[in-house]
Amino acid sequence: KDFRNDVKPNWCPGCGDFSVQAAIQRAAANIGLEPHQLAVISGIGCSGRISGYIHSYGFHGTHGRALPLAQGVKMANRDLTVIAAGGDGDGFAIGMGHTIHAIRRNIDITYIVMDNQIYGLTKGQTSPRSDVGFKTKSTPQGSVEPALSIMEIALSAGATFVAQSFSSDLKELTSLIEEGIKHKGFSLINVFSPCVTYNKVNTYDWFKENLVKVSDIEGYDPSDRAMAMQTVMKYKGLVTGLIYQNKEQKSYQELLHGYSETPLAEADLKLSKEKFDELVSEFM
Ligand code: SF4
Repeated sequence: KDFRNDVKPNWCPGCGDFSVQAAIQRAAANIGLEPHQLAVISGIGCSGRISGYIHSYGFHGTHGRALPLAQGVKMANRDLTVIAAGGDGDGFAIGMGHTIHAIRRNIDITYIVMDNQIYGLTKGQTSPRSDVGFKTKSTPQGSVEPALSIMEIALSAGATFVAQSFSSDLKELTSLIEEGIKHKGFSLINVFSPCVTYNKVNTYDWFKENLVKVSDIEGYDPSDRAMAMQTVMKYKGLVTGLIYQNKEQKSYQELLHGYSETPLAEADLKLSKEKFDELVSEFM
């Protein structure tokens, strides 16, 4: 099983997104998926290109809309492993409404966010994840807005799988993506994925100095939601690993079970050409 294709990524050398691409490819292979069993659906941004760089089904959608598209794919074919992918601007600004509702819906897809705390494709403006004081072309005197704490938001919205990782830690990232795919429900994996071209503050070295692994915190229990929230707040979101998992809550698909034994993509709709034409004519 080889999830590599021959498309050469046009990310800048050193961009953190290369590691995310590699981690998805390794995780899918480790789980034993075949390329036709995986769909990678992305939004717009440097990170959105990832759907074209993996040998699987893929769709490069519109800005902020990776999640509605990915949920549609999963609803049409629940046998597919569906990964939605994008950046922090894509998912936590224009796409934030979709993010919150996909979380609470607990639909069985994995959402990987390449969080570089800046808009890279449009050449460097503050994103919802930029820190106070961050100077960019759009905030030459420094941003006055606090960064959105996505871990706190996900936990309070009822997420059943919340993880965070770092592009430099390919082993941890691959393992978390594997766990996210296996999780029966919505899994959010936020990845600190440095933009080496436009973000000169949140660099690889900066993350190495500031990130704390939850596995290094004595007594940390990822099944304890209150502990997860307290830890995220204590470390100002700069924690990596499996932050929280609820294995008990049923996924959207499990709750819907019984509506249809067969995924829509495989259903025999027994639709004659006449009936099809009649249905289509209603929209003409
Ligand atoms: Fe990566 Fe930044 Fe280059 Fe975009 S601009 S490809 S995010 S390094």
